[in-house]
Amino acid sequence: MSTLMNYTFQSFNFRGRNKLRPFYDLIASIAAEEYSHIETLSYTINLLLTGTTTRGKDPTATPLADATDARNTYHFIASGQSALPVDSMGAPRHGQNVFSSGNLKLDLLHNFFLECGARANKMRVYEMTSDPCARAAVGYLLVRGGVHIVAYAKALEVLTGVNLKPMFPIPDLDNSKFPEAKKLENEGLHRIMFRWSPKDFTEIGQIWKGEHPIDGSELFVADEDMLEGFDPPDLDEELQLNAPGIEPEMLAEIAKRLFG
Ligand code: MN
Repeated sequence: MSTLMNYTFQSFNFRGRNKLRPFYDLIASIAAEEYSHIETLSYTINLLLTGTTTRGKDPTATPLADATDARNTYHFIASGQSALPVDSMGAPRHGQNVFSSGNLKLDLLHNFFLECGARANKMRVYEMTSDPCARAAVGYLLVRGGVHIVAYAKALEVLTGVNLKPMFPIPDLDNSKFPEAKKLENEGLHRIMFRWSPKDFTEIGQIWKGEHPIDGSELFVADEDMLEGFDPPDLDEELQLNAPGIEPEMLAEIAKRLFG
């Protein structure tokens, strides 16, 4: 949520974008990718919460009794065991999570720092769970977040002439230590910057080029060979608030009665 809103506001607010087009293109296109990461994590959270309470239609059977022992019980009260824009302790995302200073160097430094901090947190989340769904999601995001770290580092290098290569990786643990991330990097996912528009963001390649600072592989921008994606999981409804026994035939019957 922080990365999406940071890059979205920075791109909306980008003044002088025609003079600094590659930097605008980079920030705007990464913002679009962050939106997809929120979708990814929302499905992950829904999958992880499926089956954590007793699925039942009878409210007197206390189907949510297990949720009273959950650390974030309010999550179970306020949602149907699904994703909300809050952190693991229930603190909501808000405008203070957005940094948009109006100075490109400062914004890029912030974004670099933000991605490095997010990478540290992902690694610790991975170390908290052996669940394959959670690990798959974190592994994927370690790879793509790693791309964003490199992208903002490259942007700072192009803008200022600094050499950030000796700093990698931050934190020190390499993505290859995480099997789910390693598998994706073996397929080259850490080398690709996706261009999220067929017509826009054409100058990203002026920043995303050359060698990957960790393994020296060749970086490239993907236009048409985007990730294929997949159908979202079709999850059964959680019945706590749903009227017992509503079936498609009943809905059709009601519609017929009302509308003929
Ligand atoms: Mn990112």
